[in-house]
Amino acid sequence: MQTKKEQQRLLDCTKLNEITGCYIWTRKVSVDGYGQTMIKESCGSVHLETAHHASYVAFYGDVPRGKKVRQGCGNSLCINPEHLEIVVS
Ligand SMILES: [Zn+2]
Repeated sequence: MQTKKEQQRLLDCTKLNEITGCYIWTRKVSVDGYGQTMIKESCGSVHLETAHHASYVAFYGDVPRGKKVRQGCGNSLCINPEHLEIVVS
């Protein structure tokens, strides 16, 4: 959900890497090395989502169909919206 509250909630789960500017996810991490967070849909249902995907949605809105979010900086735990980019999945 694209709200200030959701942006803050996600950033509260990170630690800044002052060298790279990455916001490093400090909560649950998936087996393939991506941050994970629970997302509440506007309809009320809840599901597990990758943290960087959730960050993109919180700051920029929905990811276009057929596309996915990746970290341009190459750090799979980074959720800095400025490091996120949309690529064809
Ligand atoms: Zn980064």
